[in-house]
Amino acid sequence: MSIQAPSHIEYNSSSEYSESEYDPNDERWDDWEEEAQQDLKCLFCNELFTSADDLFNHCSHHHGFDFQKIRAELKFDFYQCIRLINYIRQQVLNNSELESITSYTVQNIQSVINDDVYLKPVLEDDPLLYAFDYAESEDDEFDKDVESNSFELKGQDQSIEIDPTTPLEHELLKKLRLAEERLFNTEARFKTIESQFNDYRNMVKNSFLDVYSDIKSERSTGSLKMTSTYEERTNYYFNSYAKNDIHEEMLKDRVRTESYRDFIYENKDLFKNKIVLDVGCGTGILSMFAAKAGASKVFSVEKSDIIERTKEIVKENQLDNIITLINGKIEEVDLPVKKVDIIISEWMGYFLFFEAMLDSVIVARDKWLASDGILAPSHCRLLLSAIEDEELFNDTLNFWNDVYGFKMTSMKSPIKTSAIVEYVEPQAVITNVVSIKEVPTYTIRKFRLDFTSPFTLVSTRNGHIHGFLGYFDTWFTRDNHDIPLSQNIDDIVEGVSGFTTGPQGKVTHWRQTIFLLEHSIKVEQGTIINGTIDCKKSKENPRDLDFEIRYQVVNKNANLNDTEEYVQKFYLR
Ligand code: SAH
Repeated sequence: MSIQAPSHIEYNSSSEYSESEYDPNDERWDDWEEEAQQDLKCLFCNELFTSADDLFNHCSHHHGFDFQKIRAELKFDFYQCIRLINYIRQQVLNNSELESITSYTVQNIQSVINDDVYLKPVLEDDPLLYAFDYAESEDDEFDKDVESNSFELKGQDQSIEIDPTTPLEHELLKKLRLAEERLFNTEARFKTIESQFNDYRNMVKNSFLDVYSDIKSERSTGSLKMTSTYEERTNYYFNSYAKNDIHEEMLKDRVRTESYRDFIYENKDLFKNKIVLDVGCGTGILSMFAAKAGASKVFSVEKSDIIERTKEIVKENQLDNIITLINGKIEEVDLPVKKVDIIISEWMGYFLFFEAMLDSVIVARDKWLASDGILAPSHCRLLLSAIEDEELFNDTLNFWNDVYGFKMTSMKSPIKTSAIVEYVEPQAVITNVVSIKEVPTYTIRKFRLDFTSPFTLVSTRNGHIHGFLGYFDTWFTRDNHDIPLSQNIDDIVEGVSGFTTGPQGKVTHWRQTIFLLEHSIKVEQGTIINGTIDCKKSKENPRDLDFEIRYQVVNKNANLNDTEEYVQKFYLR
């Protein structure tokens, strides 16, 4: 799929960013402090507790996992505790069988507790992250023997000196000193806990929720024109999928459609008697492939009105006994089953991530895919190279040098440049091609979909670089296994199939994405371009993409210190 959506798509059309999630009155992240009494969900099952101690006791007795003991033995700090809690919650989310586990061990615990991936809360508003009492495992201070000959008892506005004389008074004084010391240490510890909780809450807000909060603030300041009711809002994204032409374009893209078909038909044993979920079924083509391949049941979810035609299509092909069409957003619908064996979806947009539909597939995966289930496609790779295309460069940029006899140079350098979605001749590619993002769909997490990647390109001939070029490759496997970086899309590997959207492959409706440079780069064979590409969902509309590309040119014999860093921002709307 891929639509060129106008920039005024509204948020409610976005699958993940649904109306409820963007409620400007929703203060839930600020409420954590007040939510100390909230129910705490067991790390494994659905049982709820009002104290972290009760919860951890339950985990220890019923699930054979003693969090408190491990924490004390391994001397976890605050963040390590948070990471371990999130890690276990993620494991349980991925594998519902763990809900009834009676003995649990964390493999490779040191790498878990030090991996910042697990700082992200797995359960939204998880009160457990703020409810457990963090203590240094042993506080030697408490056991310190207190030697002193006198004690000052501090009252509100007076202090009394006590001078012990008898052994009993000495003993009592020692106990008093100890109690005061403990009180002091406890207060200090509470302050530390409080500040760590606050730091963590802010970190979560800033790192994981910035899109939400930005949109919330834009909404509340009214800079986005949000109409009052859900029905009244223009649902541009799904409306564009309600029309015939976009589906016709996708169906006529034979590289795309035949790749899905071949994977499904050539692996009928995988589909036989299986329950399949088609996320965003459109005209139902993938669902029908799956039904023909022997699936016992196919649930086909589609939000746009094209589903009215899909109902007829499915009936016309007498597959309505197998395919159940469900009209709605995948994030909001209910399925009559708890788990599905296979999820198929054609979610890829321009430059892979445009439209942000993978986010919706991830929601479906985490909710319904059985732990041994299959996701098709199972791997995508985003690639970058550079091109020489003088004609495009002249037409787009040099055009402003002479417009009916006038110079319009300022038109050349807007703050952000639109990335161009176009077909590129394979011979335009002037460097090697590198991976800038691996997307294993079975395991990738949503927050990894915004990324910054370093790259090094090496020119394969003398000439000029006029722009960077992005496109993606897609793989289907029988077991979701990772595709190693050394494996190319053309490599013939048993049980693995796929297609490229690159200029060297057959044309697809995704074309390629060009990031045209403000200044061309003169290169010799062997010239190195070092850089980073930052790709993020746009804050104005999370289905759009914003890019920043930084690069330096290193000529073969040049001194690195002489090289200037260039920065250019792009967008894809
Ligand atoms: N599977 C079809 C259509 C792919 S295009 C085919 O291969 O031809 C993607 C489809 O997903 C569109 O029809 C779009 O409306 C739908 N879609 C996108 N996000 C969705 C969501 N969150 N819930 C339901 N449908 C969605």
